Amino acid sequence: MTKRTLIVDIKRNALDDGPGIRTLIFFKGCPLSCVWCQNPETKSPNQEIAFYRENCAECGRCLEACQNKAIDFSYRYRIDRSLCTLCGECIKVCPNEALKFVGREYQIRELVDIILKDKIFFQNSGGGVTLSGGEPLYHMEYVNQLLRELKKENIHICIETSGYYNREKFNELILPYVDLIYFDLKIFDPNLHLKYCKARNEKIFSNFESLIKNQKLEVLPRIPLIPEITATEENLTRLAHYLKSLNIKKIGLLPYNPLWLSKTEKIGVESEYHRSEWLNNQEKEKIKTIFSGFEYENF
Ligand code: SF4
Ligand code: SF4
Repeated sequence: MTKRTLIVDIKRNALDDGPGIRTLIFFKGCPLSCVWCQNPETKSPNQEIAFYRENCAECGRCLEACQNKAIDFSYRYRIDRSLCTLCGECIKVCPNEALKFVGREYQIRELVDIILKDKIFFQNSGGGVTLSGGEPLYHMEYVNQLLRELKKENIHICIETSGYYNREKFNELILPYVDLIYFDLKIFDPNLHLKYCKARNEKIFSNFESLIKNQKLEVLPRIPLIPEITATEENLTRLAHYLKSLNIKKIGLLPYNPLWLSKTEKIGVESEYHRSEWLNNQEKEKIKTIFSGFEYENF
C-alpha cells in the first residue's frame, strides 16, 4: 500500500516561520512523539475526527447519523474513536461544523495552485513557503515533487524539521531545493530524549552536524522551551555548550505555549504533560542568561 500524505492545515499570509509573507503547510505524521507537541493533531499520519465542543448545539443529529454507536453525549471526548470508522456521516449532518476531519489529501497541482496565489506577496516581501507539521520530511517523496514544482516558480522554501530523517534520502530528494531549515534540537541527553520524545537523539544531532557543513544553506537551530523537560538549566546549558562548540552564533528560542492542551481534547487524546501556564519572567531571564552570547529574536 502506498503511503498517504495528509495535510492538516494551510495558512496563508503568515508572518512567522521564515522571512517575509509566507504560506505555511502543516503535514500530518511525525516519527517522534513529544509529550508536549504543540500540534498534537499532526502526530499521527492517519486521518482523525475532531469534535469542537464550543460549536456544538447538542441537536443530536450526529447521534442519529452514526451507525456505529461511536457517539456518546456523556463521554468526555464525545466520540469513541475505537468504534468510529471515519465514515463522515456525522460531519455531513452537523449544522454547526462541530465535527471535522483532521487531515486531507492534496494533489501536488492543487497545492501548488494554492501557493502560487500569493506569489506576488512572496516576491514583494522576500517571503515564500514553509513546510511544517508534524514532520514534513516524513513524506519525502511527496515533498520532493512539491519542491520541484515550486522551484520552477523560484519560490523560497523553508522546512521546519525535528531532524529525525534518513540523511541519504534527504540529500537526494530535499537538499537541492531548500533555502532555509529550522532544525529543532530538544534534549541533549539521549535517554531523556527517548523518554520525552519516544526516540533517541543520535540521528538528529548527526544530521544537524552534517547540515551545517553545507555553506549554501541557511540552518537555524531552534530549541522549544518546555518547562521541566527541555527548559531545565542542565539541558539548556549542555545545548548552549554544544552549539558554541560548533561555532553557531544564531539560534531560535521557542517559548512554551499551553494552548495546545485544548487540541488534545478535540481529537480525544489523553496528554502525558499538563503544564497550563506560559513561561514566567523569572524562567525567561534564566534562559536568557544561559544563552548570553547568542543572537536570538522575539524572546
Ligand atoms: S465518522 Fe462515522 S463512525 Fe465516526 S462518529 Fe461520525 S458517523 Fe460515527
Ligand atoms: S450534529 Fe453537530 S451540533 Fe448537533 S449534536 Fe452533533 S456535533 Fe453537536
